[in-house]
Amino acid sequence: MTNASAKDEIVPVDPTDLAESLRNPIDYRKSGLSLNHIVGCPLDCAYCVRHLFDAFDLRTPRSIIDDHEAVRRLTGHPLFRPDITPLQLFNRATDPFLPAVKPHTFRVVHELDARGLRNHLLLITRYHVSEQDCRFLNSLKNLRVTLFVTYSGITDERIEPVSSRIAARSLQTAFREADRYRTVLYWRPIVRGLNDTEGHIHAARELAETAHATAFTGLFFRDEMRTYYRSIGLPEPYEDVARRKILPEDCEERILKIFDGAPLFRKSSCAASFAHGEADYNGHFGIPEICDICPATQREVCRNHHLKPERARIDTLLAEAGSPDAAYRFRNGAIEVDGLEEEERYFLQHALAYQIHDVRHPHKPRRHGRADIGWTE
Ligand code: SF4
Repeated sequence: MTNASAKDEIVPVDPTDLAESLRNPIDYRKSGLSLNHIVGCPLDCAYCVRHLFDAFDLRTPRSIIDDHEAVRRLTGHPLFRPDITPLQLFNRATDPFLPAVKPHTFRVVHELDARGLRNHLLLITRYHVSEQDCRFLNSLKNLRVTLFVTYSGITDERIEPVSSRIAARSLQTAFREADRYRTVLYWRPIVRGLNDTEGHIHAARELAETAHATAFTGLFFRDEMRTYYRSIGLPEPYEDVARRKILPEDCEERILKIFDGAPLFRKSSCAASFAHGEADYNGHFGIPEICDICPATQREVCRNHHLKPERARIDTLLAEAGSPDAAYRFRNGAIEVDGLEEEERYFLQHALAYQIHDVRHPHKPRRHGRADIGWTE
């Protein structure tokens, strides 16, 4: 395991100095339980989700709690289930491979692995990944690790000051060295008119040859991002903002045409699951239109594992989540719930490997959970 050196030391921060949304180092999202006890990033991507946490100015990584305590809280979280709950590390407000953050990343991963946990663990980076880093990941015995390397091909340094060439090199190294872990080309954010030309798509298609799978997605463009774009005079990528990621229909069509034949996924959990030879742990198979680009062999794997859950099992999980009386019904390959918090919904989804939708946010046909912008009815 990599040891922290003096230059790597991260200074603790008093959580009360942070925006409230950043103080809690653990939250449950669609991707699983997410641990973020270090916050702050100097990479300055204009569309960074740090805008949402009122933390874009936090450029030096700081720790809220120490690594051991972080692991203790993560595995002691009431909704954590050994071997089942997917985990993510430092995906909210920093990059796990920044030089100062990396020793903490590896310490947490090592400690989780030493506990014998077989959970999926997703690490997302756009920074340098070395052969030594790969040796560490290969040394793990239990966790199912997937390294997502974020690559966009955007060359406007006002939007992405860090060159996509770094990500491309990291992915090539990680793929070449992979033994016990898997790699995903995380091609994002794809923005109409910015990085969706034929040249961009062909470049991503070529890079996909050096990954076990590719996941592609659009741009989060919320009010907070728009305010920032305006404040520094950047052209706005879309006329409007949206709650969900934006990926227009024509972008997707052109991508699918050129990517024909490579394992390409609309959902990151599908890419991770395929890379490990398993069924999707988010149960997207219940929504067949998501799967129409998936390799036939993988569809078979998912088909064999996609089981409609029994009501008794759902009721037990609802009780475990603390909402025994929540109303639900089976609908269109998913369970539609009313009145569950987001973390309870995703807890159920991962425990059942079956889609759980919130009645307040209906999924529209063919949108694949994306914003309406750029799609025809
Ligand atoms: S078959 Fe569907 S659910 Fe399974 S990995 Fe492929 S796209 Fe995802």
